[in-house]
Amino acid sequence: MGKALIIGAGGVASVAIHKCCQNPDVFSEIMIASRTKARCDELKAKLDGGRTIIHTAQVDADNTDEVIALINSFKPDLVINLALPYQDLTIMDACLATKTNYLDTANYEPLDTAKFEYSWQWAYQQRFKDAGIMALLGCGFDPGVTGVFSAYAAKHHFDEIHYIDILDANGGDHGYPFATNFNPEINIREITSNGRYWEKGQWIETAPLEIKREYNFAEVGQKDMYLLYHEELESLAKNINGIKRIRFFMTFGQSYITHLRCLENVGMTSIVPIKFQGQDIVPLQFLKAVLPDPASLGPRTVGKTNIGCIFQGVKDGQPKNYYLYNICDHQECYREVGSQAISYTTGVPAMIGAMLMMDGRWKGAGVFNVEEMDPDPFMAELNKWGLPWREDFNPTLVD
Ligand code: NDP
Repeated sequence: MGKALIIGAGGVASVAIHKCCQNPDVFSEIMIASRTKARCDELKAKLDGGRTIIHTAQVDADNTDEVIALINSFKPDLVINLALPYQDLTIMDACLATKTNYLDTANYEPLDTAKFEYSWQWAYQQRFKDAGIMALLGCGFDPGVTGVFSAYAAKHHFDEIHYIDILDANGGDHGYPFATNFNPEINIREITSNGRYWEKGQWIETAPLEIKREYNFAEVGQKDMYLLYHEELESLAKNINGIKRIRFFMTFGQSYITHLRCLENVGMTSIVPIKFQGQDIVPLQFLKAVLPDPASLGPRTVGKTNIGCIFQGVKDGQPKNYYLYNICDHQECYREVGSQAISYTTGVPAMIGAMLMMDGRWKGAGVFNVEEMDPDPFMAELNKWGLPWREDFNPTLVD
């Protein structure tokens, strides 16, 4: 039915591409374009033979003109940006120039500052509106499904939501002393930044990993989790009426924290370039090069993820608590698409968001976060495409 240009060929893109190929009625033709064409060709070789026609191309998505040329030659209905957050604005510029719809899974970050905010992308609102095209921001799991869960809770379960705690637990074990489950550079920038949460109309800042809680996750068990800043806090604080506090917690094991602190202490997580043998290198980029590639963790990761949102609010004048979450098994994901659950839980929602935009169930002119869309079709598709959700009407709350 339609054509999608997918930029990036890493862990998340691989899952989204597998899922697009399982859905040829919607994705009749795709172009996989990335910095390293060989990775696109590898994916094509794996997936060719189905009903989705696959093309590949090399592109430097930091270069708007290259992206424009590629869009003009392929003429997609939608560009799915699964490269890195650094490329968001150049790709959005190319979409504006060619009047093409846009979707991504992570908000823009400048390369030289670990700063996560929607301001840069929200600034495109009027231009996308005037061009009559749609940009859907942050359509992975978190952000992504967490926003859809929030919109669903607001629509069906509450008159007003007052508190949201987003809990992201990864009970997976890959057997390495230290590795990250998605792009190490992006992951470590996120975790070593100050924590932040939103309460009573303002942001409260914490030191990195300063606030710790324990939680007993269904099918994952008792875990330490730490308060982090995460980008959906910004959009949900704006889009969920009546919200008083919103926080985000992610689980980390003791070994991960110890390695991270050690790497930080010796300067390996810094993003400030240093001279090394006459060359400028960024320590964190060098660290990425020596750490296991997240795409290689699939065969060796066992265990489950449990990611969801606990809502507290009011319905019909009564206080109400509600927990919506998904449990995903690393090995089941690997058997299905050759990836671990972190890439899976991001790539599947990206395909679902893309499908809803391609078939017109989600439409609009301007820049949108997922919680601004009708959650019902997305919730139904999650159950069909491998990320079924569960509900708990009496959840343990986080203090
Ligand atoms: P990977 O590092 O595995 O893949 C990134 C891909 O982008 C690689 O194929 C890389 O090419 C390509 N790329 C990088 N720079 C460019 C460029 N200038 N031009 C063209 N292609 C480029 O990352 P992941 O797949 O783990 O993550 C992808 C995205 O998903 C990230 O933005 C990440 O933040 C986001 N994410 C979102 C989550 C969510 O729940 N919302 C969760 C996890 C990730 P090359 O092969 O040459 O390196």
